[in-house]
Parts: sequence; C-alpha cells; structure tokens
Amino acid sequence: MTQDSWSKFCAAWFSLCPARVSCIVYPVSTMIIKSAEFVKSAVKPDQYPAGDIPEVAFIGRSNVGKSSLINTLLNRKRLVKTSSTPGRTQLVNFFLINKAFSFVDLPGYGYAKAPKSVQKSWGPMIETYLATRSNLRGVVLIMDIRRTPGEQEHNLIDWLHYYNLAIIMILTKADKLSKSNRIKQHRVIGNTLAVDVDDLIVFSAKSGLGKEAVWKTIEQLPGFYT
Ligand code: GDP
Repeated sequence: MTQDSWSKFCAAWFSLCPARVSCIVYPVSTMIIKSAEFVKSAVKPDQYPAGDIPEVAFIGRSNVGKSSLINTLLNRKRLVKTSSTPGRTQLVNFFLINKAFSFVDLPGYGYAKAPKSVQKSWGPMIETYLATRSNLRGVVLIMDIRRTPGEQEHNLIDWLHYYNLAIIMILTKADKLSKSNRIKQHRVIGNTLAVDVDDLIVFSAKSGLGKEAVWKTIEQLPGFYT
C-alpha cells in the first residue's frame, strides 16, 4: 500500500469509526521487506556505492545492539553480523533494501579495548561519511536504555545537528529493565538529552517492542520516499 492510499484508508476509517480510534495518530508502518542484501564495505568515499537512492545510517556505541536492531527491522537473523569482537572492524557497511533504499551500518564507538589507532580513526571516518553523503536522509542513533548518555552521545548529536541531519533516537535493550525502570530511564535520558520522551523510541530486539515505531519514523524522514 502506498503512503497516499494508506492516508486515504486512514481518513475513511477515521470518519466511519464512532470512537474515532486513531489509526491516524498511530498508523502502523506499511513497510514490507521484500529483499535485503549486503552491498559492500568501505573505509573512504571513493569506495562507497553510488549515492542515488535514499539512505539511512545507524550509529551507536560498540555492543549497544545496532546489528540486532537492523536485523530486527529487516526480519533477518544474521544479515548484519552481531559482534563477538567489538571495536575491531572500522568499516562502513552498505545494505540495499527492496532495491529502493539503503541502510548503512556505521562502526561503533567507545570500545575501550580497541587499538588506539582504531579509536582515533573513528571520528574522521564518520565525519567524512556524514559530510559527503548527499543522499543521507537521517541517522538512527542507538543508545542502551540502561545507560545515561554521556559526552560521546552529546558530541555526536551536536555533529548531526551541524550537518543538518534528521536524527532518530532509539533506546534499545528495553527488555532488560522492568516496566517501571524502563519508564524512569526513558524520562532520565529525555532530560539528559533535552529531548521530548516521545522522540525517544523504546526498542527491544528480543521482544520486537518499538519495531513499528522505528519503521514509521524512518518512513517519515523528509525525502525517504523520493
Ligand atoms: P552491536 O555491536 O551494536 O552491533 O551490538 P549487537 O547487536 O551485536 O548486540 C550486542 C549484544 O547485545 C549481543 O549479545 C545481543 O544479543 C545483545 N542484544 C542486542 N539487542 C538486544 C536487546 O534488545 N535485548 C537483549 N536482551 N539483548 C540484546
């Protein structure tokens, strides 16, 4: 179903439904994954694939659950390899989805045991990608719901603002907290980052919580449907 026909369907439903139940306010995502394939890894722009389709990048601290999030969104078990040796590989990995848009798995940051040279090369590599990728529609920033964001997350958010990029913020591993702690952490992280809690999507790769909300937000990125 296209976005347009979905909107028409919602409008019709809304006018018919006596309780005015809001499928308009909370529509489910219409995304259906027909294909998802690894394209290539790159370390510098001349190795990136052609930037002729909308792109969404994923970034987060090492071991935060980035691979698990991408695999969950794409209904795949191991398209993106979950890391047994975090921080070792510093590659920008490109995936083609539905032959229509791409997902980019950016290297994780903050792994203390990574070699110094690897830690040092992270910033320039990410900044080069953010600064040069004109088809980039938004960046998904993944944070662990159990950890209060620190200097690295603040710097990263400043960077994304500097490059005028839309940010989708995800709090993952929600299943690891009780419901009350989840609500508390959601609020604490919102306050720390000075963002509305409605703009922080609570997610779990284990239970699938938040998957629809993530897709819906990706689909609403300006220019995602070109
Ligand atoms: P990455 O290094 O950021 O790509 O993180 P991974 O996706 O490889 O996940 C790191 C570890 O956290 C793995 O052991 C995952 O199974 C686990 N993990 C990731 N997401 C979740 C989640 O939502 N819930 C739980 N319980 N574990 C998760």
